Amino acid sequence: MLAIEIIQKKRDRYALEKHEIEFLIDHYVRGILPDYQMASFLMAVCINGMRSEEISWLTKAMLYSGEVITHSSANKNVIDKHSTGGVGDKISIPLAPLLASCGIKVPMIAGRGLGHTGGTLDKLESIPGFRCNLDVEHYRKQVQSLGCVIMGQTEEIAPADKKMYALRDVTGTVESIPLIASSIMSKKLAEGLDGLVLDVKHGKGAFMKTLEDARKLASTMVDIGTHMNKEVTAYLTSMEQPLGTMIGNTLEIIESIDILHGRGPQDSMDLTLKLGAEMLLLARAVDSLEEGQQKLLKSIENGSAFSTFLAMVKAQGGDTKYISNPKLFAQAHKTIPILSPKDGFVASIDSRALGLAVCVLGGGRMKLSDIIDPRVGIEMHAKIGHQIVKGQPLCTLHVEEKGVEEARARVEQAIDVVRESVCSPSLITERISSHS
Ligand code: URA
Repeated sequence: MLAIEIIQKKRDRYALEKHEIEFLIDHYVRGILPDYQMASFLMAVCINGMRSEEISWLTKAMLYSGEVITHSSANKNVIDKHSTGGVGDKISIPLAPLLASCGIKVPMIAGRGLGHTGGTLDKLESIPGFRCNLDVEHYRKQVQSLGCVIMGQTEEIAPADKKMYALRDVTGTVESIPLIASSIMSKKLAEGLDGLVLDVKHGKGAFMKTLEDARKLASTMVDIGTHMNKEVTAYLTSMEQPLGTMIGNTLEIIESIDILHGRGPQDSMDLTLKLGAEMLLLARAVDSLEEGQQKLLKSIENGSAFSTFLAMVKAQGGDTKYISNPKLFAQAHKTIPILSPKDGFVASIDSRALGLAVCVLGGGRMKLSDIIDPRVGIEMHAKIGHQIVKGQPLCTLHVEEKGVEEARARVEQAIDVVRESVCSPSLITERISSHS
C-alpha cells in the first residue's frame, strides 16, 4: 500500500477503508510516514471530511496506538467528563472529587491551556506542589484507592494523537470536526472508561462558534462512543459569557473550592450538578437525574466531596493547607476595577476577549513554552442581564506588571451595557445521548 494513494483518495473525496486509515496512523506513529504526508492527509480531511465509520476507525487506530488503561472495577462505574474548553470553565476540578465521593471512579486526563481558554492542568498546578505528570502506575493506583485523579497525557496514552495534534497546531488543521472528535475520543477512551459525559461549548468563547457546529461535534463524539460500545451523553452549553465568576488559574481553584463547599456561583453550581448527575446515571448509581443531584448535594453538604479533593491534592503532591485556607494563595499585587460607563443592563460579554486579556496579563499562554503567572486574572461582578449603575464595577482585574493597559482596554471593550433590559441567556442548550 502507498501512503500517497490514500492521500489522493481523500483529496478526491472518496471514503477510506479501515485498513488504509490504520496503515497511515501506524506508519506515522512508527516514524515511517513523514510529517509532510500526514499534514497533507490531515488537510484533505479538513477540507473533505469523513464518514461516520471512517471517524470511528480513525479514533480506534489512534486509541490503539498506545496503551488502553484497565481498572479493576466490576460494576461499570469508571466514568469521566470532558469539556471542549471555555473561559472560566473549571468544572472538571470540583467534579472529579465530587463524583469520587459518591463512589464513582474518575480517571481524568486533562489538558493545558492554549490561546484564550485556560487548561485544567495549569489551574491545578497553581496549588503549590501539585503534580500532573504522573506515571500510569500511580494513575491506576490513585483511581483504585481514592476514586479520582486528574493528570496530563503521558507518552503511553494515544501517542498518535499527541503527534498529530502538534502537527495540526502548525498546519492549520485544528478546525475539523472529524479530527477534533477523534482526537478527544481517542484520549478519553484510552482511560478505560465505561461511560463519558461531554460538555461541548458553543459561542464566541468556544472552539465551535455556532450551535449547529457544536451539535455536529457532539453527535460525532456520541456516535464514536456507540461504535465502541460506550455510553456517551453530551451537553451543549453556551460560552456567550464566561462560566462562573473567576477567570485565571488561582482564582479558578478558589472558585472550585467554593463549589465543593456548595457556595459557588449559581451557573457553576448548576453545571457541576447537571454534569455530575449524568455521570451518576451513566454509572447506574442512580435512577434519575433528580436523584443524582440530591446525591451530589448530600456529598457537598456532609463535606465528603471537599475531603476527597483534599485527599486528591495530597496524593498528587499538593500542599493541602492552601485548599483548607485559600487566603494563603499568593495574590496578584494590584487589583483594578472596571467600572460601568452608564446605567443599564449588561447586554453582552465577549468571553474570548476576556480569556485573551488574562493571557496578556500572563495568566495563559500563546505558545506552549510560555510561563504562566497563576495569580493574575479577572473576577466578574456582573453577568448578562444584570442591572448596573454608572460607576459600579463590572469586574476586577488581578494584575502584576505585565500587559496591564492592553488587558484593561480589551476588557473595557468586551462588556457591553445598554439602557433596555436584557434576558440572561440559558447556559445549557441541548442534551444529546447515545442511550436516551
Ligand atoms: N482538544 C483536543 O484534545 N483535540 C482537538 O483536536 C481539539 C481540542
